[in-house]
Amino acid sequence: MQYPETSEGEAQAQGVSYTIHVNEALCTGCGLCEAFCPVEVFAWEGLSNVQDGSPLDASAPRRRPHVARAQDCWGCETCAGQCPENAISIEASAAALAAQAVRPTSPPLDPGTQGLYAQWAHCLKEVLGLRWEPVAISLVKAGDPLPDVPLPKERLRFCQSLMAARRGRTLLMPANRHACPDGTSILGLTPMPKKLASGELYILFHKLDSLEAAKRMVHERPCLEPRSIDATVVAPLGKAPCAADVVAVIAQPEQIMWLCMATSYYTGHRHDFHASGYNAQCVETTLLPYLNGEINISFGCYGCRASSDVCDDLMMMGIPVAKMSEIVAGLTELGRKAIPQSRAKIYLPPF
Ligand code: SF4
Ligand code: SF4
Repeated sequence: MQYPETSEGEAQAQGVSYTIHVNEALCTGCGLCEAFCPVEVFAWEGLSNVQDGSPLDASAPRRRPHVARAQDCWGCETCAGQCPENAISIEASAAALAAQAVRPTSPPLDPGTQGLYAQWAHCLKEVLGLRWEPVAISLVKAGDPLPDVPLPKERLRFCQSLMAARRGRTLLMPANRHACPDGTSILGLTPMPKKLASGELYILFHKLDSLEAAKRMVHERPCLEPRSIDATVVAPLGKAPCAADVVAVIAQPEQIMWLCMATSYYTGHRHDFHASGYNAQCVETTLLPYLNGEINISFGCYGCRASSDVCDDLMMMGIPVAKMSEIVAGLTELGRKAIPQSRAKIYLPPF
C-alpha cells in the first residue's frame, strides 16, 4: 500500500511522506488536480480552465497548480489519475515504502467457499446463459489483511475494474490504483474532494441543471466513511481470492428479470430499486446491496458507459452475498420449466 496507515500527524513524525512532481512541460493548467485532491494539497492562483468553464484542451497557456500543502498529501494519487496529460507523479518516502512492504496478506480463500462460489457462478452462467462471468466484489476494511494479489500497473475506475473482472481479471485496488474520485470516495477509500461534496463539479461539467440539484444528488446517494475501506477487490466469482461482499451480474434485461424472479421465488416479494444514472457501479451495483442487504439493479451511468466496453443492451444487478444461496436455488427451479418455456415463446400467437 502506498499510503500510510496512520493519521497525517503520526505519518509525518514517522517520515511517511510524499513528494508531488508536476511536469510543467506537459501541464495545460486545466485545474483537475486541484479540483479533485481530497485534502487540498494544491493551491491555484487565478482561474483554471475548469473554474472558468473553458474547454479542458484549450491551447492557451494557463497558470500552473502550486503544491502548497505537500505535508497533507497521503499518496492516494487521485491527482495523477485525473490529470489528462499524465503530468503528475507521486514519490513515496522510504518510510512510506517500508509501511507498504510490511502490510500482511490474508490466506487464500478456503476451499469450501471457493467451491460454493464456483457452483454459484456455474449455475448463473448455465441457467441464464450469461456471456460474462459474474463478479465477486470485496471491500477490504481498513486494517484488514489484503489478499495476495499483485497491484495492477494501470489506474482504473471502479466501473472499469468491474467490467475487466467480468472478462476474467482479478484486481486488487487500493486508493492509489483508483482513477475516479467519485467512486474512490463513495466507497470509503478517500475523503470526498470538497468540490464533489458541494456538487460544484457536476455543474462545471454540465451534468446537472443547478447547484441545488447537484447537492440533492450528492445528499441522496450513500457513501462510506472516508478511509474506512483500504482496497476494493474484484474477480470472476469462481476465482475470488477472498470472501465477497456483493456479486455483480452484468447482463441483458431478460436475464436480470430472471434474477429478480429468482429472488422472489420463495417469498413472492416485489422489489424496490434505487437507480439514477449517476454512480452506477459504485453506488447502485455495489454500495446499496452492501449496505441494505437487498438486490439492486442499475442501468449503468454516463461514467461506466463512457469509460468501459459495456454494451448498450446490458444492465447490472448487485446481489448481497448473503442472498446468493437463495437466489441460486430459486433460479435453478425457474430453469427447469419457466425459463425454457418463456424463451421458446410458448404464448406467442400465430401471425
Ligand atoms: S491536472 Fe495535470 S494538466 Fe491539469 S492542471 Fe493539474 S497537472 Fe496540469
Ligand atoms: S496524491 Fe492524493 S493527497 Fe496527494 S496531492 Fe495527489 S490527490 Fe492530493
